Amino acid sequence: MTLDEQLALVVAVGRAFVRLEMGRHAQILRDAYRSLRAGQGWPGPQDEAWLIDWARTLQVPPYDGERGYPVIERGRTPCGHHPGLNTTTRAWTRGWRTRCRECGVEWVVIDGAQ
Ligand SMILES: [Zn+2]
Repeated sequence: MTLDEQLALVVAVGRAFVRLEMGRHAQILRDAYRSLRAGQGWPGPQDEAWLIDWARTLQVPPYDGERGYPVIERGRTPCGHHPGLNTTTRAWTRGWRTRCRECGVEWVVIDGAQ
């Protein structure tokens, strides 16, 4: 990913954080934007992989659709085999990401309409 692409993704994911009232995450990306533009790299423990992981989680283009984690409605089990064996791996105001402890499949649950 070029610096320009990375900065554009920082802005796009940052907007998603603001929309979802994830203030602490949004602040991380404000700091990252300044630092990256200054050529100083990521300021904290977060990095490009962290950014892409959140883009895939929140379906931020170009990491939406098949490049993102599958999105399902609350109460469904996309692996189709192991209801009740889920572990939450990420959470935000109106959704969360969860993984099947049995088969490792990971997906995103959006609580209500986007
Ligand atoms: Zn499973």
